[in-house]
Amino acid sequence: MNTGKSALVHGYEVVIGFETHAQLSTRSKIFSRASTAFGAEPNTQACAVDLALPGTLPVMNKGAVERAIEFGLAVGSHIAPRSIFARKNYFYPDLPKGYQISQFEIPVVQGGQVEFFLAGERRSVRLVRAHLEEDAGKSLHEDFVGQTGIDLNRAGTPLLEIVTEPDMRSSEEAVAYAKELHKIVTWIGICDGNMQEGSFRCDANVSVRKPGAPLGTRREIKNLNSFKFMQQAIDFEVRWQIERIEDGHAIEQATVLFNPDTGETRAMRSKEDAADYRYFPDPDLPPLVIADEWVQRVRDAMTELPRVMAQRFQADYGLTEYDATVLTQSRAMAAYFEAAAKASGQPKLTSNWIMGELARRLNAGEIEITESAVNALQLAQLLVRIADGTISNNAAKQVFDALWSREGGDVDQLIEAKGLKQLNDTDALGEIVDTVLAANPKNVEEYRGGNSKALNALVGQIMKASQGKANPQQVNELLRKKMG
Ligand code: ADP
Ligand code: MG
Repeated sequence: MNTGKSALVHGYEVVIGFETHAQLSTRSKIFSRASTAFGAEPNTQACAVDLALPGTLPVMNKGAVERAIEFGLAVGSHIAPRSIFARKNYFYPDLPKGYQISQFEIPVVQGGQVEFFLAGERRSVRLVRAHLEEDAGKSLHEDFVGQTGIDLNRAGTPLLEIVTEPDMRSSEEAVAYAKELHKIVTWIGICDGNMQEGSFRCDANVSVRKPGAPLGTRREIKNLNSFKFMQQAIDFEVRWQIERIEDGHAIEQATVLFNPDTGETRAMRSKEDAADYRYFPDPDLPPLVIADEWVQRVRDAMTELPRVMAQRFQADYGLTEYDATVLTQSRAMAAYFEAAAKASGQPKLTSNWIMGELARRLNAGEIEITESAVNALQLAQLLVRIADGTISNNAAKQVFDALWSREGGDVDQLIEAKGLKQLNDTDALGEIVDTVLAANPKNVEEYRGGNSKALNALVGQIMKASQGKANPQQVNELLRKKMG
């Protein structure tokens, strides 16, 4: 599916694979009943199970498994009927129990793909797997001078680690993939997607090679928590690697961190291999068994996926593929569109207004559609008044402005108050037309002589005389009739 097309950077092909940690939106932890809420006082939400104190046993949270299944179904993966939890052993202060429970050899979600558009071209990134695991605690460096605090609240928080094949060929494609993945997990509601709070963290594996050469050695950029930094970090890393190679050095596999202040990546540690972690099946947890009926139940309860919804928008409302894709950027956006399109009976007009007037204001104010000052039904009322000829498109923009700044009053009241009604009354319009024709005999003569441009000049005069309230279509008709 992947076209494999890539823009070369100084003669090198860029190769990128992603590992993303999506924090699952369960209220309690993956193996305990402690709360996962963000922002609590340090060390108030880690229980004995999260710390693996002697005598405790982990118990699988079904909600976390269900979310993994939903994800797998959303991206066309195989859901493993039987998967295994393993201990990944390592030492770090924020992991006092000395191991992380993860999945190693047999993950719950296998294969699948994420599809999206990049510069109008369809792309597909293959997934290797998505596995369930627990998060570790957090080291706090900021609040202490010369000391580091440990907050274990995050220990045991459920994560789905989503791993791609090294299918991406540019930083732009990597960001487009990450945005699509973010859209999928938030759309199906398995993750809140809050990148600042660390609910969606991406690690980018980056290497470069000459076209046709075997894969180069990769360096892994850890914890990219904004799309902007993601692009900057990968671009810097690519330039750095090419320079190293051009200078005659070999790239060493490493884990690096991106520093947003300098815009640079820097090696944190040389990369461990799986063997360093001494993985072994966790003796405290039985295999995770998922019956077909469970998968079916999850499938039946799932919401319509963005891609399916976009196809339906094309079929039901006659939208272009592009418009349908934009309008299914988020569930809130799609719901707004559908409500307004249904209420107005004008899907194409609705799509144009959401992607034009509304999008412009949302962007300018950096707000989400859920915070829009004009709701879907107000927009629908406005569009009905355009469609039935009450107001012109320009007048509608004035009404929209008034609604946006919450001047008060509904659409019809605002049209009335601002005197924006188009002159549809043919008698009143007829008088204006007659006056204008009488005052411009030269234009009339030119029109009759076959110069159709003369008509435009007359229409302009009439619009002016009516203070913009004449219905241009009616003016055209009347003019033609009167001039024969
Ligand atoms: P590890 O077991 O060390 O985590 P994996 O084989 O699981 O390594 O790969 C981790 C990630 O790195 C995957 O997303 C994969 O696509 C990506 N990757 C592997 N090799 C390369 C490479 N040469 N260049 C870029 N990305 C790579
Ligand atoms: Mg890995």
